[in-house]
Amino acid sequence: MSVFLTDELASLTPYTPGEQPQDMENWIKLNTNENPYPPSAAVKKAISGKEIDELRLYSDPRCDDFLSALAAACSVKRPQVFASNGSDEALAFCFRAFCEKGAAFADITYGFYPVFASLFGIKTELIPLREDFTIAPEDYSRTDKTVFIANPNAPTSLALPRKEIERILAQNPNRLVVVDEAYVDFGAESCVTLIEQYDNLLVVGTFSKSRNLAGARIGFAIGNEQLIQDLNTVKFSFNPYNLNRLSLLAGTAAVKDKAYTKECCERIIATRQRSAAALRARGFRVLESSTNFLFAGQNELLAAKEYYELLKECKILIRYFDNERIKDFVRITVGTDEQMTLLLAATDEILREKRDERS
Ligand SMILES: *Cc1c(COP(=O)(O)O)cnc(C)c1O
Repeated sequence: MSVFLTDELASLTPYTPGEQPQDMENWIKLNTNENPYPPSAAVKKAISGKEIDELRLYSDPRCDDFLSALAAACSVKRPQVFASNGSDEALAFCFRAFCEKGAAFADITYGFYPVFASLFGIKTELIPLREDFTIAPEDYSRTDKTVFIANPNAPTSLALPRKEIERILAQNPNRLVVVDEAYVDFGAESCVTLIEQYDNLLVVGTFSKSRNLAGARIGFAIGNEQLIQDLNTVKFSFNPYNLNRLSLLAGTAAVKDKAYTKECCERIIATRQRSAAALRARGFRVLESSTNFLFAGQNELLAAKEYYELLKECKILIRYFDNERIKDFVRITVGTDEQMTLLLAATDEILREKRDERS
């Protein structure tokens, strides 16, 4: 730490992203919920040599082509959508703009929420998940802080039905509810259809998971026109060109290729169901996932942290969280069928060694 850092930030603990090894060809990477399939062919076509020459120009600060395509794909109006550099940026803007009274979110949820709160000096209230890791909508009625809900939730993989989110929205129309739908396309109900009805709803989404573009850093928010205006006020006070030219082209092409997104999601869901069943058959507890990852509880032969470490020795990366309440779980991204077969083979080998140690 330098002597120049403000006192306020001296105690800030930043978010820890999953490892991104540079020698990718040597790893099976199931640790950051990336899509195992490449972007749509339309994305490759959209980024040609000519577009590289045009990088001398600034990008469109209004993100017009992209946002028109996104609005059409989501059946909302153009003034109801906002584009961000990854959904992390949209979330950061929400913390900055809408948390006068503080922020409330689950004790186990996306690890970035407490970091944003801390970066912006926002008071937080943690609302514990139930014992089974589900969200209890009734527990949100007492707070007047801005509510952040990841739905489906991470890293639990569990989805809340839309009508339960609606209960939280209806509890208090003067309180904003931000629904982070990073994983919604893998089998949950989106709340985008509720934005006309609830002015206190803002939905945040990303192209990093279901649209195969984590590296392009494309996120968005959907809500009533006033909320979107507010997000634009923050953006134009911070970084008007928040999406670069290549990402805007990639995002526009990806959002138009609905058939490809659907095909990738269906493949991932099928692989997820097979992988969950295979892990359960090997003695793991696996929560009912509506995402592109599995939240798996430790096997009786093997602690979660050790499973993570032993898989890493086999060049397979999964995620382990240093958090008391979920210390007996790992999070495993659903990869291709081939990757999951290799994960299961490595798991069998690890369990065999454990069994041998015991006998
Ligand atoms: C992955 C993820 C995001 C952020 O993704 P970006 O890559 O910044 O768009 C946001 N929320 C949750 C819950 C996530 O898992």
